[in-house]
Amino acid sequence: MMQSGRDNHLMRSTIRDTLDVADAAYPRRRFLATSLSALTLAGLRPTPLLASAPLEAAAHASALRLISQPGRIFRTSLSGNEAVDSWACWVIVQADDDAAIEATGLTVELFNGTARVKSASYTAAGVRALAIKPPLTPRLPDGSLPARPIFWPLAIRIRQTEASPLAIDSMRVVLDLRSGKRTAQQVDVTLPIETYRQKSELLFPFRGKGIILQAGVTNGGHRNRSGQFALDAFGVDDSWSIIAAGDGKQNTDYRGWGREVLAPADGVIVRARSDRPDQPLPETSDPRYYAPEYPNGGDVGNIVTIDHGNGEFSMLAHFKAGSLRVKVGDRVRRGQPLGALGNSGDTSGPHVHYQLQTGPDWEYADALPVKFTNVDQQSLVRGTYFDAE
Ligand SMILES: [Zn+2]
Repeated sequence: MMQSGRDNHLMRSTIRDTLDVADAAYPRRRFLATSLSALTLAGLRPTPLLASAPLEAAAHASALRLISQPGRIFRTSLSGNEAVDSWACWVIVQADDDAAIEATGLTVELFNGTARVKSASYTAAGVRALAIKPPLTPRLPDGSLPARPIFWPLAIRIRQTEASPLAIDSMRVVLDLRSGKRTAQQVDVTLPIETYRQKSELLFPFRGKGIILQAGVTNGGHRNRSGQFALDAFGVDDSWSIIAAGDGKQNTDYRGWGREVLAPADGVIVRARSDRPDQPLPETSDPRYYAPEYPNGGDVGNIVTIDHGNGEFSMLAHFKAGSLRVKVGDRVRRGQPLGALGNSGDTSGPHVHYQLQTGPDWEYADALPVKFTNVDQQSLVRGTYFDAE
């Protein structure tokens, strides 16, 4: 738990922005709003902390602020001989004008309660190396522009992996900033590092043997907002081979191709798309097969999203063309077949992409860590084989 003094600090400096952010191209210094109407548009209920955000913004109208995305940061843990906790987030500078901003230094401090157990400093060149295009689109979820402009001139990606015995429970980020219009200033934010308590009992989305080829928040997994904890699973045969026949140049060469993809838990289908073709060459993600709205990639292909009724939504992607057996509004049971494993969208081989998220639309939802009842959580790591019985 945090000490009360630091709780106050959190309330002052943590604006939990819940607006959209797909990985789409984000023109530098475009704007977003943090109004309550925007929260409503995003399908989210303002919590007391969220409700305080617009007031907070008004009270410090001329200040630069730091926010994190996601608003809540969840750790993932790997046990074993060397137990580690990992987390990642974007830290974003929020401003009320579009003046260019340069970061001249960064310090990341890690706490266990009130005890600071680590401090790491970065030079100006170091911060520049961490800076990324904010992973945001400047429009509200309905496509409109926000009423009050807010600028996000700078974002950095922070990834941490620390020994579990350190028991890190918060992270303070301090940025030294300089801009043409402003004198040098320092801004900071303290972010709790939390353990997510999953509500749904989830089955792995297919039965049988497979391999995880992409997963993990800090070891080369997915980077987009709702996909931070996502996994890509390929099917394998009894000798643990991905390719069952041929040379892997056709979808049918893949052992997982056409395997039933299952509802991980009970729920209601809230999104279903089934009009996308499969990529014909498994080792190539050909943009000609992307849907028009994803010209730069990131196309999820045919998808199903299930509302589990508890704030958790399962999103499953890349279904085989024409294989979907459900439609929006259908009620599904845990284990019910939804369709077949395929190769639609931006993908370079037949697999299922699975993620647990906070809302119906993957573009606007936050990511949630995921555990399954029939696969050891420690197996959900890049390059690891598993058997989902
Ligand atoms: Zn994926």
